[in-house]
Amino acid sequence: MTPKDIAIAGCGPAGLAAALLLHRDGHRVRLYERFDTPRPIGSGLLIQPTGLAVLEKLGLDGALKAHGAHVDRLLGKAVRSGATVLDVRYSALGRPARAGIGIHRSALFAILHDAVLAEGIEVHTACEITASEAGEGGRRTLILAAGRREGPYDLLVDALGTRTPLAPPTGKELEYGALWASLDWPDVSELNPHALEQRYRAASIMAGVLPIGTAPHDAKAKAALFWSIKGVDVAAWRTAGLEAWIHEVRAVWPAVEPLLEQITDPGQLVFARYSHRTLERPGEAGLIHIGDAWHSASPQLGQGANMALLDAYALALGLRGGTDVADAIARAIAYRRFHVWLYQVLTAFFTPVYQSDSRIIPFLRDRLVGPVSKVWPAPLVQAALVSGLVGAPLGRLDLA
Ligand SMILES: Cc1cc2nc3c(=O)[nH]c(=O)nc-3n(C[C@H](O)[C@H](O)[C@H](O)COP(=O)(O)OP(=O)(O)OC[C@H]3O[C@@H](n4cnc5c(N)ncnc54)[C@H](O)[C@@H]3O)c2cc1C
Repeated sequence: MTPKDIAIAGCGPAGLAAALLLHRDGHRVRLYERFDTPRPIGSGLLIQPTGLAVLEKLGLDGALKAHGAHVDRLLGKAVRSGATVLDVRYSALGRPARAGIGIHRSALFAILHDAVLAEGIEVHTACEITASEAGEGGRRTLILAAGRREGPYDLLVDALGTRTPLAPPTGKELEYGALWASLDWPDVSELNPHALEQRYRAASIMAGVLPIGTAPHDAKAKAALFWSIKGVDVAAWRTAGLEAWIHEVRAVWPAVEPLLEQITDPGQLVFARYSHRTLERPGEAGLIHIGDAWHSASPQLGQGANMALLDAYALALGLRGGTDVADAIARAIAYRRFHVWLYQVLTAFFTPVYQSDSRIIPFLRDRLVGPVSKVWPAPLVQAALVSGLVGAPLGRLDLA
């Protein structure tokens, strides 16, 4: 395809990865972002073998591994019985050895953003995007706050995340979200620096610790601590005060004490709300929605950023093989549709197992899932599920 004028809305993982891939393929790319200085929101996330495959193609896997924490196991235990109810080892996938990389959001952002700047891609900041308009020949104009117009572009890539104004509202906000904090990894503790660990009481209480490596300009290794909470309970949590919460977390999981000691202000904890939504039509004339703008879910299976990276790669492949922009959009969506559908269904299925008011589901989880998950082929299936590899997404994109 001849080089196209492409606007990419949003400097999250989807937008930044798409910008790099499309720029390297010779397209004229511009990024638009609302922040004055682009900055990441949130604490840490887990890059799976799927997302890593895309970062390898971008030549950024080395930087990711240098900053991130090698995670080879996911371990969840019930508080009351002490029973192991989740034990996923990446080694069950066999050779080549695979692992997750726990990464501070700001580190992932810096790795992608630095590469974008180094390649001279234009980033327009302080641009609040409000809408887009289809014009002649399917070209798209971007509408910014105060009515400013940018374009038209041959293609507009919507990477604005789950609350994108470029797509019709759909899906629902989930009852449970989580409080997140980035803290220093303790010099001495019982916590495993190579595992995502969680503790559950029924499904209404969940605490977790994820090693996330180092943040930019800070050599000290970090941990992301998270605590499940309903959106409607956040105000009451604030009123009750920090001490009451620390007391509760300590009772659930005494080993996190060295992390709790670092929390002196409720402002260190950020409440993250989750939505479950999937656009029925991720492509329109001159417009494609990728990453969370297309599909978002609770992070129970930890796939969001990885799916965003896969979407960006699929878009590049679509543009390489497409006869025109419309064909490229259709191809990109076709590469990803099945995997997106599959993980949206799986995440909807697993979310109440770990975050809900149900008594029956966690009862079954604690008594059945733990023992059954040790019996072959369950270890392999679980590892493939967590890695994002079910549905063969890498094969479809020639990334296997
Ligand atoms: C608490 C939490 C934990 C998570 N853990 C994991 C995990 O372990 N693994 C994983 O893979 N995923 C995880 N996710 C999901 C992951 O963060 C998202 O799926 C991923 O960030 C999506 O990337 P994106 O680029 O599509 O969107 P985003 O990261 O949301 O980026 C959107 C960008 O668009 C900009 N923007 C938004 N609206 C506008 C506007 N109107 N005008 C201009 N700019 C705008 C934003 O500022 C932002 O820079 C987690 C999510 C949460 C909330």
